[in-house]
Amino acid sequence: MVEPILKVDFSSIKDTPGASITVQEQITLPNLNWEGNRLLEFINPWRVKLDVTNVKRGYQVSGEMCGRYRLNCDRCLEKVEADFTSDLNDLFLLELSPEEEEAKIYSGDELDLTATILETINLKMPLKTLCSPACRGLCPVCGTNLNLETCHCQPERFDPRLAMLLKWKQEKGGGNDGQSEA
Ligand SMILES: [Zn+2]
Ligand SMILES: [Zn+2]
Repeated sequence: MVEPILKVDFSSIKDTPGASITVQEQITLPNLNWEGNRLLEFINPWRVKLDVTNVKRGYQVSGEMCGRYRLNCDRCLEKVEADFTSDLNDLFLLELSPEEEEAKIYSGDELDLTATILETINLKMPLKTLCSPACRGLCPVCGTNLNLETCHCQPERFDPRLAMLLKWKQEKGGGNDGQSEA
């Protein structure tokens, strides 16, 4: 059972279709297991600001969330710290509706935004996490962090970008004046 991250009490607008309330909260996010056996660490608190509107058949939530997180670089595994900002939208209904399969269900006078928040993080986290676009990663043979040190391993596989560059150089004449073919 997951501890709820954010619950919103909408009792003040439940009898007034069209009415909305604005909620601003600081939230605490639990660390998550992330792709590649990494730990996604949240630097808490995160901030959430949203409007909850009584749309008669339920409640529409729209707003945004932001905060900072730590995750390992995809290539060298060093921890990277970065900002996250995303909009946050969801519809809450009293019961499931086949037309609105994406909607969440609520009961009582509260909306539990835990799933909304976690889904948004899953969806909006960048696909790549790099400490720098030029990160050289780890040596595949000895594991040395190539940003910090060089090692003397023979690379088992040729870097395809380097291979392209060499091929291009050869086609250009490899640095002589182009007379060598005779
Ligand atoms: Zn890196
Ligand atoms: Zn090495």
